[in-house]
Amino acid sequence: MRSEAKTTSVAKVVDPDRMLHPDEARATIFRYLWRLPTEQISLGEASWRVLSDDLVADEDQPPFPAATMDGYAVIADDPSPWREIVGRQSAGYVADLEVSLGTAAWITTGAPVPRGANAVVPVEATELADEHVIVRQERVEFGENIRPIGVDLAKGSVVLVQGSVLGAAEMGLLAGLGIDPVVVARRPRVSVLSTGNELVEPGETPGPGQIRDANRFSLIAALQEAGADVIWAGRGPDDATALRSSLIDRIAVSDVVITSGGVSMGDLDLVKPLLSELADVHFRRVFMKPGKPFNFATSGDTLIFSLPGNPVSALVGFEIFIRPALRTMLAATVIDRPRARVRLDHSVRPSDRIEFQRAIARVDSEGQLRASITGPQASSRLASLIGANALIMVPPGADPIPAGSPVEAILVGSLETRNNY
Ligand code: AMP
Ligand code: MG
Repeated sequence: MRSEAKTTSVAKVVDPDRMLHPDEARATIFRYLWRLPTEQISLGEASWRVLSDDLVADEDQPPFPAATMDGYAVIADDPSPWREIVGRQSAGYVADLEVSLGTAAWITTGAPVPRGANAVVPVEATELADEHVIVRQERVEFGENIRPIGVDLAKGSVVLVQGSVLGAAEMGLLAGLGIDPVVVARRPRVSVLSTGNELVEPGETPGPGQIRDANRFSLIAALQEAGADVIWAGRGPDDATALRSSLIDRIAVSDVVITSGGVSMGDLDLVKPLLSELADVHFRRVFMKPGKPFNFATSGDTLIFSLPGNPVSALVGFEIFIRPALRTMLAATVIDRPRARVRLDHSVRPSDRIEFQRAIARVDSEGQLRASITGPQASSRLASLIGANALIMVPPGADPIPAGSPVEAILVGSLETRNNY
């Protein structure tokens, strides 16, 4: 199924129960990543995909000297007080015109500059007098209002590097160069499985002790934003036989399998023992909050990430580990979110682990980044992620970090996001 399997063979971690620092957990995951194969798709389908090759311009843009204003094509140092109009040149074809001393050609923006002309005088700086044009401009510079050949893009230059994400400008450039179809990284095929006897569908009314499955939907959205192809998403009970068969099925057809729930210490936390049975488990716990139980395993080339069930833990684990892993498999140039130092609007209380507190970062009136935490930080409280554009990294400790202290933040969203607290 895969044209490029992972290239490294990796020694197994001796003790998967050892709690890893987030950096070590990330480095471990990265040792098992492989690069997704490429595929050719039509340009119309390529928005937000990752380009697979450097793109070299095979033509100049513009391909001919073009007027940048509506006006008259002239010879810059022509001293004639008025000029005979030799013809009209609009965009889209080449008129057989030649401009010489004492003449001018009417021209529109984007039209090829006629032979002999070396400047365009804007129509606002001219006046018409029977078949003639008078230039009402002190000086006309050589090359004025003309875009020379290749000034926007020179033939042979690298236009986009491999790993570029095809956003608005990139799509326009590809279209302008006639690149269709385009070769991009195939999207990772990802399966998502929520586990828990307590879960019901969003359309159902939960019975006593039941809750609706939030993680399947939050993870699907996070995966789509990361560029993944969610090939299957389902829900399973805490039942070993049913979970084993779903996991076997999903591992067989997926590049990545993501589960939520069932990785803690309870008797019904069945994902954890099933992973040991079905895959090579590389680590199970990370020294972070939320999301300490985070299992990473592989089975052949398939990567398996088993997240804890608490909705914030699941999404923070996704953000810190899974998103950069997927972007790496896509060979995107930019893997990680930006990081910045922000000043705290208020004091924060550290925990015994590295804590990713959800926050709203904004630029203050002095141009400094400041951040406020989004209320209570319980790992069940999805509302702590609403409006949050930053994860503040609070180092472990005993004493509160005072207001005004600089702390490191991962910027997970745009800075315009508004505080609704
Ligand atoms: P677990 O990791 O299975 O021990 O679950 C931890 C907490 O997360 C429990 O309170 C679960 O009810 C809750 N939980 C588990 N899965 C989900 C889910 N898919 N959506 C919302 N909450 C969940
Ligand atoms: Mg559970």
